[in-house]
Amino acid sequence: MNSKTFSTIVIGVGTMGSAACMQLALRGERVLGIDRFTVPHARGSHHGGSRIIRDCYFELPDYVPLLLRTRAGWDAMERNAIACGADPMLSLVQRPGVLYVGAPGSEVVARSQSSGAGFGVVCEPLDAREVRARFPQFHIPDDWTALFEPGSGFVRPERAIEAALQVARAHGAEIHQGERVIEWSETATGVRVRTDRATYEAQSLIITAGAWTPDIARTLGMALTPLRVPVVWLAPLDAAMCASPRMPVWYIDRVNASNQNDAINMYNLPTSRNANAAPGIYGIPTAPDQGEPAGVKIALHGAGTVCHPDAPRESVTAQEIAEIQSIMAEFIPTAAGAAVDSAICLYTNTVDQHFVVDQMPGCARVWIACGFSGHGFKFMPVLGEALADLATDGATPLPIEFLARR
Ligand SMILES: Cc1cc2nc3c(=O)[nH]c(=O)nc-3n(C[C@H](O)[C@H](O)[C@H](O)COP(=O)(O)OP(=O)(O)OC[C@H]3O[C@@H](n4cnc5c(N)ncnc54)[C@H](O)[C@@H]3O)c2cc1C
Repeated sequence: MNSKTFSTIVIGVGTMGSAACMQLALRGERVLGIDRFTVPHARGSHHGGSRIIRDCYFELPDYVPLLLRTRAGWDAMERNAIACGADPMLSLVQRPGVLYVGAPGSEVVARSQSSGAGFGVVCEPLDAREVRARFPQFHIPDDWTALFEPGSGFVRPERAIEAALQVARAHGAEIHQGERVIEWSETATGVRVRTDRATYEAQSLIITAGAWTPDIARTLGMALTPLRVPVVWLAPLDAAMCASPRMPVWYIDRVNASNQNDAINMYNLPTSRNANAAPGIYGIPTAPDQGEPAGVKIALHGAGTVCHPDAPRESVTAQEIAEIQSIMAEFIPTAAGAAVDSAICLYTNTVDQHFVVDQMPGCARVWIACGFSGHGFKFMPVLGEALADLATDGATPLPIEFLARR
């Protein structure tokens, strides 16, 4: 083996790639992770200070066993990072609970409940009166329905990626940042990766390039659509009522039973807003360790416009901020203050909004994880584990068959 030969190369060490590097390094593999930017960064899908974690999964119950395993994964990541010198005061995960609220007949509330119940996830169905009594921030019509999942909350994404890379490096991984992969190929005995700096060889390759996947995995044979998604931070009008744990993480499904199909099908709309479906709106409360930006973080899920990740991005517009403020004034007026900050983040949507974790077609030693469609972060530890299994053993005991290429 020459000095530039590795057991596995990982292209893209953002969310999933950093987790894969950590897992491989912990197993004693010789891993090289390469990212075109210095990670974490604000050009892809992992910035913005927080990501919701939850175990009930209205999108599909098949995800729940992976989420239950992920719980231990966050704890292990935190422990490993502290052992490698991370600040023990900076926790990765906080669990103020997640409140799902929905218009009458809400599929989001019903599916969340049934998916969690099937796997013993603790959650409490609430009617509108109970929501208002327990969480007076929420102004919910009498006929609305809700579910509270007390064991979930949010993770700090930049911190989690830094932690994963810190553990990976401490266990021998080489992480190259500011180096762009230009092309890769399979050879008779492994893989070769050419970057704008050098060429490397390895026994296997993992591609975790997020919104840039269509550029680097052209033979995948699946449509992947990067979307521009606005995020805003609003100043609380009552700081105590908007702080974790008094305010939980929340998701409001505003779709009526009459256009319920649109609510689920909004996941099939990669190009732009569906005029018939009100996108879901979600938020993450303030917390003492939040740093900048301050304020309640809010975004629409099911909205977004097609973009290329390298194209200039339009900043969040006054109209986009006003739309979010107006929805907040209706449902959570205490959090409907002025916008203190905003950001654009990228989803990478598959047609059915489910992830892809699979072998690259026609390649024996190349594995890909992509198309996280705006809901992938919470799977970071468990998918890092699955990718490490695939790269080293060619298979994983984790239940990811439903994420095969389709
Ligand atoms: C606004 C918003 C809110 C979200 N909220 C949630 C949430 O609450 N809960 C949740 O679970 N998920 C959420 N998500 C989704 C989640 O953040 C993403 O699914 C996840 O971060 C995707 O991870 P990734 O590894 O695919 O991409 P990234 O983390 O973006 O990593 C891809 C990396 O590949 C690198 N790269 C690309 N091309 C190359 C190349 N040629 N050479 C070298 N490096 C390359 C990039 O620089 C990048 O660092 C949200 C996403 C957004 C945008």
